[in-house]
Amino acid sequence: MQRETREHLFLEFTKSVCPDCGEVVDAHILIKNGKVLMKKRCIKHGYFESLLSSDSEKYLDSYKFNMPGMMPLEFGTKVTDGCPHDCGLCPDHQQHSCVGIIEITNACNLRCPTCFASSEGHDILSLDEVNYMLDQFVKQEGDPEVIQFSGGEPTIHPQILDFIRLAQNKKIKYVMINTNGIKISKDENFVKSLSELNPVIYLQFDGFKKETYEKLRGEDLLESKMKAIENLEKYNLRIVLVATIQRGVNEDEIGNLVDFALSKKAVKGLVLQPTFYSGRHPDVDPLNVVTLHEVIKHTSEQSKNGLKDTDFIPNPCCFPTCNASCYLYVDDKEVRPLARVVNVEEYVDFFMNRSVADLGQIKESLKVINSGCCGSSSSDNTGMACCTIPVDLKGIEKNIKVIMVQAFMDVFNFDVKKVMKCCVHEITPNGKIIPFCAFNNIPKYREEVNMYYRNKIAK
Ligand code: SF4
Ligand code: SF4
Ligand code: SF4
Repeated sequence: MQRETREHLFLEFTKSVCPDCGEVVDAHILIKNGKVLMKKRCIKHGYFESLLSSDSEKYLDSYKFNMPGMMPLEFGTKVTDGCPHDCGLCPDHQQHSCVGIIEITNACNLRCPTCFASSEGHDILSLDEVNYMLDQFVKQEGDPEVIQFSGGEPTIHPQILDFIRLAQNKKIKYVMINTNGIKISKDENFVKSLSELNPVIYLQFDGFKKETYEKLRGEDLLESKMKAIENLEKYNLRIVLVATIQRGVNEDEIGNLVDFALSKKAVKGLVLQPTFYSGRHPDVDPLNVVTLHEVIKHTSEQSKNGLKDTDFIPNPCCFPTCNASCYLYVDDKEVRPLARVVNVEEYVDFFMNRSVADLGQIKESLKVINSGCCGSSSSDNTGMACCTIPVDLKGIEKNIKVIMVQAFMDVFNFDVKKVMKCCVHEITPNGKIIPFCAFNNIPKYREEVNMYYRNKIAK
C-alpha cells in the first residue's frame, strides 16, 4: 500500500484559544502553498484553521531577528495556571513593558462596527486611579519610556490633560493619546491646551474613501479627519496616523496612506494595522484576512515613493512576526528608506528591548557611511515609532519618519509564544500588567476590569 505525503510542512507546535469557547487549545503552525496557517482543535468545538501569513518565506526569515528579552524590575503575579492565564506580568514573561496602555474610559463618541474594545460604556477612571496605575507601571518598569492613554475615546475624559501632566511628572518619557480625532477637529481650544503639554497624537485615519469610513467607523469621517490634522498642524503637534486595514475595504488605499503620511510634515509616522477580530467586528473568514506580509507587499506595490518589501525590518523586541518597521529619511527632494543605507544586522540592535529606536545610533551610522542625509544636528522633536509607539526624540533629525505594520492577534490566530514576548502592555485598575493581545483575547482580563467598575459603582 502506498503511503501519502502530507500536503503541508509542519513548522511548530504552540498553544492558542478556541474561537468559540476561549479554552486554551493545542495548535500547529503549518506551511502550505507558500502560506503560513494555524490549525487547532477544541475538544468541544472541533477544528479551526486560520491564516497567519501570506508569505511563508518572509515569515521564516523574520525569525532571525528574534533577540533575548529584558526582565522587568518586578513581576506582578506568580506562575500558577500557565500562560496565558497568569498575567501579570508573571515570571514566565519574556519581555519587559516597552509601552504601557491605560484605557481611561470605555465611553466613546463613535460606535465603530470594528472596535476591539467594544466601547460603549460610561465608566471613567479618576486621577487617583490613574495615579495608582502609573505607579504600578513605574514600580515594575523602573524607568518607563512610553505611556499611551486610550479608551474608548480618551479626549472626552474631562481630566485627560491632568493625566498627561501626571505621567509627565512621573518622568515617563513619551506620553501619547490614542484618538479618533473628533474632538480635535471641533475644539481648537482643546488642541491649544494639548499643545502646551505636547503629547504625541496617535490619530485613527483609515483612508480617503467615504465607503472605508462607513464600513469601519459607521459614518463618513474624512472631513473630520482632515480638519483634525489641520488643527494639529496649526499647533505643531506631532501626529502618527493609524489605519485599520480590512479585507475588501481599504487594502487598495495603502499606497495613498503611505504617500500622504510621507508628504505631511506634522505626520511623523503611519501605523498600518490589519483588522484583528476582537471585540466588536464583522463576520470573518479567518483564512481570508489581511496579514502583515500582505500589507508590506501592498505598500511596495502601491506607494509612489518606490518602497520595497526589504525596506521593512521585523521588530526584534517583541516576537518578530508581530510587527515590522520601515524608517525613512524624508525631505523635499527625496524619500530614502534607512534599511538601504545602514547595515541591517546592526540596525536591529537599535530596537532591542526598546520602544524607542535609538536614532542617535542610526544617525551616527548614517554619518559613517556619509550618506549626506543626516549630517546636521537639530533641536526639533521627531515622532518615531517602535512597538506601535511614536515618540519624541529630541535632537534627532526632523526628517525621519516611520511606517510600521502591526499585526495584533485575535482568537483565530492567537499564538501563546508570541504573547509571552509581548512588549505592549495594558495596565489595569487593579494594577496588573497584561500583554495587549492577552487582554483582548482572554475574556477574563477584560471581565476583571468590568468587575472593577461594577464594584466601584456599587460602593
Ligand atoms: S502572557 Fe506573559 S504574563 Fe501573561 S501568563 Fe503568559 S507569560 Fe505570563
Ligand atoms: S474603535 Fe475607537 S473610535 Fe471606534 S468606537 Fe472603538 S474606541 Fe471609539
Ligand atoms: S500586542 Fe500582540 S502583536 Fe503586539 S507585540 Fe504584543 S503579542 Fe505581539
